[in-house]
Amino acid sequence: MPPLTVDQALERILENVEPTGCDSLAIEAARGRTLAEPLAARVTQPPFDASAMDGYAVRTADVAHLPATLVVVGEAAAGHPFDGSIAPGEAVRIFTGAPLPHGADAVVIQENATRDGSKVVVQEGAIDAGHIRPRGFDFREGDVLLSAGRRLGPREVALAAAMGHGKVTVRRRPRVAILSTGDELVPPGSRPGPGQIIASNHLGVAGLAELAGAEVQMLGIARDTRADLDAHFVRAEGADVIVTIGGASVGDHDLVGPVLEARGMTMAFWKIAMRPGKPLMFGRLGRARVLGLPGNPVSSLVCTRVFLTPLVAALLGRPAKGERMQQARSAVPLEPNGPRQHYMRATLELGPDGTTLVTPVRSQDSSLLAPLARADCLLVRPINGPALPAGSLVPILPLDF
Ligand code: AMP
Ligand code: MG
Repeated sequence: MPPLTVDQALERILENVEPTGCDSLAIEAARGRTLAEPLAARVTQPPFDASAMDGYAVRTADVAHLPATLVVVGEAAAGHPFDGSIAPGEAVRIFTGAPLPHGADAVVIQENATRDGSKVVVQEGAIDAGHIRPRGFDFREGDVLLSAGRRLGPREVALAAAMGHGKVTVRRRPRVAILSTGDELVPPGSRPGPGQIIASNHLGVAGLAELAGAEVQMLGIARDTRADLDAHFVRAEGADVIVTIGGASVGDHDLVGPVLEARGMTMAFWKIAMRPGKPLMFGRLGRARVLGLPGNPVSSLVCTRVFLTPLVAALLGRPAKGERMQQARSAVPLEPNGPRQHYMRATLELGPDGTTLVTPVRSQDSSLLAPLARADCLLVRPINGPALPAGSLVPILPLDF
């Protein structure tokens, strides 16, 4: 059987994902979280016809012939309504955000009015109707403005608060447990001895998981022995996703798959037609999904972006709408692609005509973190894609994190 394509692998990973449970949170604490229920407005906004300018609230009939002189009978400011009513020949001094007084149906901006003691003279050409924000101009009580699965960014929390919600029901953050594996690995900040390497991938994987909305649990570094791997997995109890880094190919020291299978994991696949990232393992262990990432830094981060980010989104109940690929024009000719979908690290620049030009970085080796950090995007080449001339439109996945 040929290895699964990226799309097939993602489909398997997302199969039957159930969203996590719910948390009730104060709106002040809800930014970055995902709504578990649709949100309907509890109030009408604005709640009253409000002045959009500083000026004078008047009756249209009184300013049909200009100039007109009116008696100023009071004042209305934001938070301080005028509680009377305007009779013919009267006006109320009004400020932005104040409710329009009863009887008034227009606002003359102060630039078009001259105050004279208790009177105001409305000058010629002063009237246009645009200075009132009518009640319900933004939304009305009962309007459903935010759907379940919507991520609460800065705009959404502001809107939810304006809609009258002091608390919102959001999805529990999916718990992603991350394990680094390898006899050669030492923690960040330590000086590697002979043959040792600083473990770094877990920080990139954790960062992406958190950006996607997960809560991360670090399981540390396991040695390449069955006993040590097994001991580390004990702590993953209760995780929604277990992510392992390294030890997932078929070398003698690649024990992650066998140890997890001995713990009860059913293996779904462990190879996909993707570059970088061929030895990607996926399985189910109880209610947890297990994602076994390759150890090479670029492979592990690209696979995290391509598979873990959508998995966390699905666990949060976000609508599955597939990856929105952007497009750019290749600045250089591209060689034909082989049998694996290739995620090439690439930089972006603005071309002379304003279109975005994409250029693959020189070295595409999957062990190189520095070019990954320099890149702006991944240029995606499909399986067996043909050679393309410079100027061709190609799909890109932004590295906007
Ligand atoms: P493996 O998949 O275990 O064969 O690892 C492939 C390569 O990635 C090896 O050179 C490892 O040293 C390196 N590697 C594995 N895990 C990590 C990690 N957590 N951080 C950085 N490099 C790693
Ligand atoms: Mg290893």
